[in-house]
Amino acid sequence: FLPHLVASSEQVEETYIMVKPDGVQRGLVGEIISRFERKGFKLSGLKLFRCPRELAEEHYKDLQSKPFFPKLIEYITSGPVVCMAWEGVGVVASARKLIGSTNPLQAEPGTIRGDLAVQTGRNVVHGSDSPENGQREIGTSYKTQVLVFQT
Ligand code: UDP
Ligand code: MG
Repeated sequence: FLPHLVASSEQVEETYIMVKPDGVQRGLVGEIISRFERKGFKLSGLKLFRCPRELAEEHYKDLQSKPFFPKLIEYITSGPVVCMAWEGVGVVASARKLIGSTNPLQAEPGTIRGDLAVQTGRNVVHGSDSPENGQREIGTSYKTQVLVFQT
């Protein structure tokens, strides 16, 4: 741990953040990474890849029964994504706050979705909703894929 980033290593957790295909295509990768960096979290893994259908379905398996599921899978597999593991004290809930509400029109200004997106089906970024899902999603997205870089 870098002493200027964390006062105590208690409650350090990890979350899975993914810049979705629209975010990559629109050139928002740097902007999104910058917001987590400025908050003070640590980037612990990153790669660019095209998410295969099976992994996308595994990642979003809790939403399988939703009517929007087929469109969601189509969207997530439509182009390269940047997937990242971020770590820090309280990073899971804090990242969700930085990202903002699922519907970008309801997301507060100052959040990523509130500032940079309009439609729920094109909301530029994903963040895990619990530490357990953080671990699961980091495992899913890196599974069978080449890890380009990890600290
Ligand atoms: N989504 C959608 N339509 C909906 C709800 C969700 O297309 O009515 C998509 C959207 O891209 C969202 C993702 O499915 O980010 C996952 O939904 P979830 O409810 O987990 O939202 P999140 O955790 O991403 O805010
Ligand atoms: Mg979710």
